[in-house]
Amino acid sequence: MVHAADLMRKAVMRLAWHSGFASRTRDRFGGLGSIIMLHRVRPDCISPLGVTRSLSITPDFLDQILTSLKSEGTQLVSMDEMIERVKTGAQDGHRFAAVTLDDGYNDNLNHAWPVFQKHNVPFTIYAAPGLIEGAAVLWWEVVEKLVTKASFIKIPGGPEWRCGTLFQKRAAFHSLMRYFSYTLTELEQLPVLREMCAAEGMICSVPADQDVMNWKELRQIASDPLCTIGAHTVHHYNLKKLTADMVAREMRLSADMLEEKLGKRPAHFAYPYGSAKAAGKREAEIAAEEGFLSAVTTRHGTIHPEHRANLHALPRISINGRFQKLVYAQTMMSGVTTPIANAGRRVVQA
Ligand SMILES: [Zn+2]
Repeated sequence: MVHAADLMRKAVMRLAWHSGFASRTRDRFGGLGSIIMLHRVRPDCISPLGVTRSLSITPDFLDQILTSLKSEGTQLVSMDEMIERVKTGAQDGHRFAAVTLDDGYNDNLNHAWPVFQKHNVPFTIYAAPGLIEGAAVLWWEVVEKLVTKASFIKIPGGPEWRCGTLFQKRAAFHSLMRYFSYTLTELEQLPVLREMCAAEGMICSVPADQDVMNWKELRQIASDPLCTIGAHTVHHYNLKKLTADMVAREMRLSADMLEEKLGKRPAHFAYPYGSAKAAGKREAEIAAEEGFLSAVTTRHGTIHPEHRANLHALPRISINGRFQKLVYAQTMMSGVTTPIANAGRRVVQA
């Protein structure tokens, strides 16, 4: 699927890089470095409608990115080291990049880990215990499977969509994404999804169907000194839609469960969804109160000395499956796209 907006973004990024503008302005916009955000790393694309393709890159592309970063002198660091560098402002003439992966997909173990080991590069995986235990689902993946299979979709007691053609299926998927994100409460999502799946003869919420690592697999990858495990709530809820007490509980319980299962309390946190609609000042304050050293959003931006005062709302650079060329990753990490994506702001915080 080709998006007109993607074509425009790609054209702007190619121009910024090939004209030399991105490298000339890197000192101003690139800051101390970047936190890279990934989700899935696998050789094949498993998005049947192409609508969740952005969440997946290939191991080859990961290899290219790490090779390129090392060759240009970028220091690849753990989240602990990243925090130290932000606190001290230490640069040593080199920018840093910290690699993070959200949700704990099992392809992180099978496909990404060998690439990190090959390059001896630290990485952080933000895991949500509810996804492992079957108490939560990656609902957007189930919705895509549902829309792919069905010719007609109805929300129980709510709107309905025809999905006979590919065009209708993609339109229905995007409408359902909005419905699940903004109309349903977080606690309603799973029961509604289960009912919709039952109507199509599909089973929902089976952990094995979700492609996330089980506890044994998470322990296996966590045993590598290169790997840091961070928390990502228990149920992968949009925290802005919860009360402050529930936010604190989701954060604390996810850390408790990871500590119990892995033997080490996570020091770093990632907000589920992580946009301005899912994480703000209140969530950043609670993450700090709950004792996390850092918390990352999904807002687009590079890391600057100003973030020293706001370590619980750190932006990231998403390496998107629809933008799998080095030129796009290099341009975004130069920082030149940060003000474009953030109404002119060079430093992105909560
Ligand atoms: Zn997530």
